[in-house]
Amino acid sequence: MIRFNAAVLTSCDTARPFSDSRPLQWREISADGPGDGEVMVRITAASLCRSDLSVVTGIRAWPMPIVPGHEAAGIVETVGSGVSRVRPGDQVVLVYQPACGTCPCCRAGEVHLCQPGLAANRAGKLLSGGPRLSLDGQAVYHHMGLSAFAEMAVVSEHSLVRVDADLPAEIAALLGCAVMCGAGTVQNTLGLRAGETLVIAGIGGVGSSALLGAMAAGAGRIIAVDPDPGKLETAKSLGASDVVLDGPDTVAEILELTSGGSDCVGGGRRAWRICNGFWRIAAWRADGQCRAGRSGHAVFPGRGGAGDWRQDCQRQLYGQLQSAA
Ligand SMILES: [Zn+2]
Ligand SMILES: [Zn+2]
Repeated sequence: MIRFNAAVLTSCDTARPFSDSRPLQWREISADGPGDGEVMVRITAASLCRSDLSVVTGIRAWPMPIVPGHEAAGIVETVGSGVSRVRPGDQVVLVYQPACGTCPCCRAGEVHLCQPGLAANRAGKLLSGGPRLSLDGQAVYHHMGLSAFAEMAVVSEHSLVRVDADLPAEIAALLGCAVMCGAGTVQNTLGLRAGETLVIAGIGGVGSSALLGAMAAGAGRIIAVDPDPGKLETAKSLGASDVVLDGPDTVAEILELTSGGSDCVGGGRRAWRICNGFWRIAAWRADGQCRAGRSGHAVFPGRGGAGDWRQDCQRQLYGQLQSAA
C-alpha cells in the first residue's frame, strides 16, 4: 500500500459557486497494488475536461467518494504481475475507456465499446477489479478507471498507452480525451476523406482536436463556428479556412459557404457539422447538395445536457435537412 495526495469528491450536491464551496478536497489517500495486470503511474500532467465538472455537478451519477480526472499523462512507477504492455520509466497516456481485448466488441475492433470496460467504469472500479483507493478506511472510487487528479494512479494496464519519452506531458495528456474525441470522431466515426468540407461548431478542446484531425485527413475546407471571437481566432491559427461567429444566421451562412463552391469533388461534396461543448459533440453529415437535401445522417458521440446553444444549432440544421429532403 502507498499513500499520496488526491482531489477527493465526497458528494455531488455542493452549493455553488464552487469557488466558495470547494467541492474537491486535496487529501492523503491510500492505494493498494498494483495487483495483477495493474500499473502504478506517477501523474505528470492532468487537464480539466467538462466531464470532470459533470462529476462535480452530478449530471452524471458516480459512486462516492470519488477522485475525478480522466485526461492525463504520467510515468510508470511499478507494475503488477502479468503486466506486459508497459515497463517502469515508460511515459504513458491514461485512457478513460479500458479495452479488455477479448470481449465481442473488442474482437470486432470496436474497443471504445468494450463491455467489461464500460461496466467497470460505471461501477467506479478498474477493469481488473477494485476499488483500490481508500480514505480513512473507506473505499474511494475510480473515475473512468483512472482518477488522475492525484499524485499517483493505480490503473489497469488496459487503461494505458505508451508514448514517446520526449513528448511533453501537457500535450500527451490531451491525447487521452480531447484528441481522442475530436480527431477520432472526424477520422474514425465520420471517416472524413481528403478534399471534403468540414464544418466544426464549437472550438473548445474537442473542436480544436477535430480541426487538427480534419487537417491530417486532408480536408478540403474547414469552416469553424463558435460564439466566441477569440476561439475563432484560434481556429484560424490552427488552419480553419473559414470562420462563422455563431448567431441567428449561422445556418444560412453555413449553407451559403457550403453550396455552389468550387471544391466539389466527384459530385460527393459533403457538409459536416460537429457541435461540441467541453462535454458534447454532435456531428452532422449531408450527402451532396445541401439545398437539394438528398440524405444525411448524424453521429452523436459524447453526452450533453439540455439547453445550450449547440443543441439549437443541431435542431436548426436538422430542420433544414428535413425540410429540404
Ligand atoms: Zn474528457
Ligand atoms: Zn473488451
